[in-house]
Amino acid sequence: MADYSTLKSRMLLHSCCATCAAYPASLLKDSFDISLFYYNPNIFPEEEYYKRLADIRILADNTGITLITGEYDKSGWDKATKHLSGEPEGGTRCPLCFSFRLKKTAETAREKGFDIFGTTLSISPHKDSKVIIRTGESLAARIGIDFYRTDLKKKGGFKKAMDLSRKYSFYRQSYCGCKYSIRSNTV
Ligand code: SF4
Repeated sequence: MADYSTLKSRMLLHSCCATCAAYPASLLKDSFDISLFYYNPNIFPEEEYYKRLADIRILADNTGITLITGEYDKSGWDKATKHLSGEPEGGTRCPLCFSFRLKKTAETAREKGFDIFGTTLSISPHKDSKVIIRTGESLAARIGIDFYRTDLKKKGGFKKAMDLSRKYSFYRQSYCGCKYSIRSNTV
């Protein structure tokens, strides 16, 4: 008979890039059966999108963690955020961007039979973890799946992420991801 006490909950972990995903994956993989979800249609230009995807693939291959890649829905993201093109990074466009990506993550998690979804977004010191958590929880209630509530940048999380990124020699981008953030040069 199977020993069900050792079964872990299945988590779909939205991952914005390998640099941000390596530490959360190492932190969570003992408690959850994780799959990484690369869904980032905000990333511009296309070469940048594929550059970040290439490193996520390396992370998945090195750790044996499954990688699921979502659609690169550039036009959908552009349409949703165009009216906020003049906003600075950290302004009102960013919560919409979080919601765009986390909604798809929650829907995919539910469709594919995951127990819970989470995101690596809160590891960045430039992103408001409270907004990310509020967004995740609201989507969880609407879509009917649990959200993993955590602020990954706490307890030196960002530094640990940078250390691990250096160890793997991952590409580290100089801007958040969208075309509007290129001008502000932060991650
Ligand atoms: S700055 Fe970053 S979080 Fe904000 S809209 Fe652009 S890609 Fe999304």
